Amino acid sequence: MPFRFQLVFIIATFLIASSVTYASVCDDFYSRLPNVSRTLCETAQLQPSGTRSVQGRPLMLRDITPVLPRLRVLVVGAMHGDEFSSASVALHWLKLAQINPEQTHWRFIPVLNPDGLMRRPARRANAHGVDLNRNFPTFNWQREARAYWEQRTRKDPRRWPGKVPLSEPESKYLFDQLASFKPHVIVSIHAPYGVLDFDGPVMPPTQLGRLYLNQVGVFPGSLGNYGGLQNAMPVVTVELPNALRTPSDTEMLTMWHDLRMWMDKNITPAVRPIAPVRRNQLDG
Ligand SMILES: [Zn+2]
Repeated sequence: MPFRFQLVFIIATFLIASSVTYASVCDDFYSRLPNVSRTLCETAQLQPSGTRSVQGRPLMLRDITPVLPRLRVLVVGAMHGDEFSSASVALHWLKLAQINPEQTHWRFIPVLNPDGLMRRPARRANAHGVDLNRNFPTFNWQREARAYWEQRTRKDPRRWPGKVPLSEPESKYLFDQLASFKPHVIVSIHAPYGVLDFDGPVMPPTQLGRLYLNQVGVFPGSLGNYGGLQNAMPVVTVELPNALRTPSDTEMLTMWHDLRMWMDKNITPAVRPIAPVRRNQLDG
């Protein structure tokens, strides 16, 4: 290709990429998310990751990096598109991390499943109808995920694991994040079961605000199973009590402080994976 065409191509690519701004994404989020002002979203300064959803929406992230980070923590919201409050809480916590990151390199992905979130009505699965939280490559995925879906969920379309693990750009993106960012902790925010779940090799947090630990079990292809049990990355799963409303600002602040206190006591950069543990798969 002649040089001038290469140059035009590069400039066009740059212009397309830069057209994805946090302001345009915030228009979408502002229209959908409870307790999220335009200012809160725009102050978060989300950046396009370069990866897009099935329908071409940018997967946005924000890194907050202090001068001397001790830990790396990945916070993920709206893996399920109809759990609106999970994205809102991620944005509120992002603001708190901006104010005081406390030696932690935070990476926020407030909306992992923008297609599910923006669909009307919103839905749990992504645009291919895949439950992203069943699409991670856990042991014996082919046999277990399919059988679980068919027998235990009776082919619930909200919980379809997909044809193969990591078939979806959104789950593949998160998988790549675990490999490249190597978080010491993953915080995965969901709703509406009102509990705290945990998978991993360290002492779990007993409570975040009014959410109490209740380890309900793991599922074939879930993030807790893949990250927490198979790869010994502590996964804190926050199940908010309501998918349409956030906890109060005070409660979100208390949850944040509890998370920080648990990290301070239990997570060190030296935490290394122990042998993967298998828990029984329970319903839940
Ligand atoms: Zn969920």
